[in-house]
Amino acid sequence: MGVIDEVKQRMDIVEVVSQYATLKKAGRTFQALCPFHSEKHPSFFVYPEQQSWHCFGACNTGGDIFSFVMKKEGIDFGDALRLLGQKAGITIPSKFEPEAGKEERERLYQVNQAAAQYFHNLLLNSPVGEKTREYFTSRGLSPKTVTGFQLGFSLNSWDALKQYLTERGYAESELLAAGLVIESEAGGTHDRFRNRLMFPIQDIRGRIVGFGARVLDDSLPKYLNSPQTLIFDKSNCLYGINLAVAAIRQQDLVVIVEGYMDVITAHQNGFSNVVASMGTSVTEKQIGTLKRLTRNMALALDADAAGEEATLRAIDYENTLEAEVKVIIMPEGKDPDDVIREDAKIWQNLLEEALPIIDYTFNIVTAKLDLNTAKDKSLAVDKLGLILDGMKDTVRRVHYLQKLARLADISLRDLETAIRRMKPSRGRRQTKEPDQVRVTRTLHPLLSSPVEEYCLALLLQYPELKGRNAGLSPEYFENSENREIFAVWQQADKLSSLKDELDSAIWEHLDSLVTRSLTANQIEQKYANCVLRLQEIHLKSLEVKRGEVLALEAESGGTAAELAKLEEQGIEVSVQLGELFTQRSRGSQEQRR
Ligand SMILES: [Zn+2]
Repeated sequence: MGVIDEVKQRMDIVEVVSQYATLKKAGRTFQALCPFHSEKHPSFFVYPEQQSWHCFGACNTGGDIFSFVMKKEGIDFGDALRLLGQKAGITIPSKFEPEAGKEERERLYQVNQAAAQYFHNLLLNSPVGEKTREYFTSRGLSPKTVTGFQLGFSLNSWDALKQYLTERGYAESELLAAGLVIESEAGGTHDRFRNRLMFPIQDIRGRIVGFGARVLDDSLPKYLNSPQTLIFDKSNCLYGINLAVAAIRQQDLVVIVEGYMDVITAHQNGFSNVVASMGTSVTEKQIGTLKRLTRNMALALDADAAGEEATLRAIDYENTLEAEVKVIIMPEGKDPDDVIREDAKIWQNLLEEALPIIDYTFNIVTAKLDLNTAKDKSLAVDKLGLILDGMKDTVRRVHYLQKLARLADISLRDLETAIRRMKPSRGRRQTKEPDQVRVTRTLHPLLSSPVEEYCLALLLQYPELKGRNAGLSPEYFENSENREIFAVWQQADKLSSLKDELDSAIWEHLDSLVTRSLTANQIEQKYANCVLRLQEIHLKSLEVKRGEVLALEAESGGTAAELAKLEEQGIEVSVQLGELFTQRSRGSQEQRR
C-alpha cells in the first residue's frame, strides 16, 4: 500500500476538520460555519462515511481530507500529505530527496536479473542441469513455460554464483543485500541457493524481487526463499502476478493457489488468472494489490486449510476486499498442479462449484452439529454469530444473519440480542471509559475510485487523448491525488515532464497508473464512456450529500416552504441549497443591522 492510502486509512476527516472549525453532529453528517467563507448560518458539512466535505454556501465546493488541508493551510498536495502523515505517524520522503534508496533498489533488481539469467542458463545448457530438466519434463512443462517463468537451477557449490556475479562487477555487499549470499560463521560469505530448482519471483512490473528454491532430493528444507530485502517482502508478493495481470482484468477474477508449480501448470493450461500467495494465508497487502485488478477472488485450498481459513480469516478477507470471497475445495491429498495435469476439466468444474467462503464456514461449523437439539443450535449461534457480526457489508451481514436465524429456528431479533450478549467487553468500555474509546484510532476502509484511476491510466498511456475535449473537469476527481495528477497532466506537454511537476510523494501512485495494463482497442470510446461515468458519479455523490442536508433542513422545520418557493422561481435543484444558504446568511445579517 502506498503512503497516500496509508494516510487516508489512519486519518479521520472529522478529527482533522474539527481542529479548524466547530463541528456539530447532524444526522450522519457534521455541520459547521464554513471555515473558508464568512457566514452566519452553517452551510459547511463533513461526511464521515465518504471521508469528504462540502460547502453548499458561497464556496459551493468540496473534496477530501487532503484538499481540505491544502485549502486551509494554503499548501500544495505534497505538503498536505506530509502534514497529515506526520500526525498519523507515517514518514513520507521529503521532496528534496525523492530518490532516497532508488539507486540501491535499482542495483538489487539488476543483480537479481543477472542471477536469474545465470540459473536459467544452467538449467537449459549445463550437463548438471539434466536432472532438473528431467524433473520439469516429468511434470509436463513445455520449453515455452520454462522460459516464460525463467525457471532455473543452482549448482551444488558454495561460491559459483558469487564468483559469477562478482566477475560481472557486483560487490559482495550487494549480493548480501539481495540475499543471494549469506555470511558464514567463519566469516566471509557463500551462496545461499545450492543444488535447487530456482523460481524467480517477480513483481507486478516483471522485476525480479527474490527467489523461491526447491530441492530435487529429500534434503531439508524443501523450500527456501530469499530473505526480506529492500525490494523483497514476502507478505507483499504474489507469484505469477506479472503474467496474470491481463487475464485477471479480462476475466474479472483472480484465483489464488499455494505453490509455484500450481501457478506454472495452471498458466500452461490456459488458466492465466492464477497467482500464488507466498504462504498459506493471504495477507492484507496482497489483497490490496489484487483489489486494484478485480473484486472477485477465489482461494484454492485443501480441505484442512480451507476449514481453518474459513473460520479464522473469512471475514478479514472480505472486509479487506470489500467483496465476496469464494473458496475452491481441492480433492483430498491433491493440489491444483495434480488436478490440472490429470484433467483440466476437473479444475474447471471445481472453479464453477466454488462456494462463497461464508457459506462454506456455515457448512464447516454445522457439519458437526445436530441442529434439532437446543444445545447445538446454541453452539451454532455462538460460533457463527460473532463471525457474522464482524462483517462490514450490511446487506450481506443481514443475509447471513437471516440464514443463521433460520438454521437455529429463532427470530432475527432474538439472534441479534444473543450476539450483543456475546460482546460484553464493548458494553463495558462504552459506559466506563468513553474518552478512551474516542481516541482509539480505527483504520478506515479505503474508498477506492476505480473509474478515476482507469480514466487517468487511459490519459497517461494514450497521449493522443489529450487533443480530445471530452468535458473532463478536475472536480470530477474526488481523490486529491488523482485530481492533482489530472491538473498537472492538463498543463504538461510531455509525460516525461509530468514527474518533474509532481511531488515525489505521488510518484508511486503515478507509476501504478502508467504501468497499468489496458486493452488497446476502442480507446477513444472507452475514454468518452469513462468521462461520462465520472460525471455521473460526481453528480450522484453530490446529490446524496445534498439529500442528507435537505433532510436535516426539513427536520429543523420551515425549510420546506423556502425550498418550494425557490422551486417555483424555477431554480434548479442543484443550486437550490446554495440559494437557500445565501438567503439565510443575508437574512441574518439584515436582522442584525
Ligand atoms: Zn464556504
